[in-house]
Amino acid sequence: MSQLQRIAIAPSQLQQGQISLTKEQQHYLARVLRLREGDHFIAMDGRGKWWLTQLAGEQGQVLEPLVVETELPVSITLMLALPKGNGFDEVVRCCTELGVTTIAPVLSDRTLLQPSPQKLERWRRIAAEAAEQSERAFVPTILEPVAFSSSLSFENSQQYICEARGNFPHLKDCLPHKGQMANDQELIIATGPEGGWTQEEIDSAIAAGFQAVSLGRRILRAVTAPVVALSLITAAYEV
Ligand code: SAM
Repeated sequence: MSQLQRIAIAPSQLQQGQISLTKEQQHYLARVLRLREGDHFIAMDGRGKWWLTQLAGEQGQVLEPLVVETELPVSITLMLALPKGNGFDEVVRCCTELGVTTIAPVLSDRTLLQPSPQKLERWRRIAAEAAEQSERAFVPTILEPVAFSSSLSFENSQQYICEARGNFPHLKDCLPHKGQMANDQELIIATGPEGGWTQEEIDSAIAAGFQAVSLGRRILRAVTAPVVALSLITAAYEV
């Protein structure tokens, strides 16, 4: 079963046990993966459901639902100040593999670039591909970019802002212990741009309930810091 190819479908494509495949999906299954009539593959809706499916012309015939247990037991939102160039693509890919739930691109005082509208579509596509590849049950949500200062209000969550300099406790020592997390409690983690957060941004995050944390003694690149933070969280909560 694990060797079967996976494709992400929109929930609306499935009706009465039949998946109506798009032209791109038909091409991908038949020409790229070389599946033939009757071959099996896995269809995933990105919202927690997988189905063992059989190729039948332009349709996928659902054979049975599958149980997927690849998700972390905590919900993680990454607030990421947009890094230069295509750095965000790599962060979306790696953090999806590591189990992030939501990625919130934020514009900070030192963010250099405003993303074009096509970027959001691209990041969502990368998240879907990385979720397929890493056998996630859920495709992470990528939110529209917003100003960091306007996105600091959260409920029922533990919030952390990563700061490269200063005498802050290490994230690994600040995460709630397994079993101490309330139901549905979320972890929010914010990482800054190449130039770092401004003091005002750190102060307003702390005033909004964020805890400033370190990821170690070395200065990590803006694209490395979120991957390290996600890895620490994964190590703390993976069961
Ligand atoms: N230019 C900044 C400086 O020299 O202080 C460094 C910014 S760093 C390249 C980009 C972001 O990664 C930081 O804003 C922070 O969120 C995160 N980061 C990098 N290294 C870190 C560390 N050792 N601990 C915590 N966060 C770190």
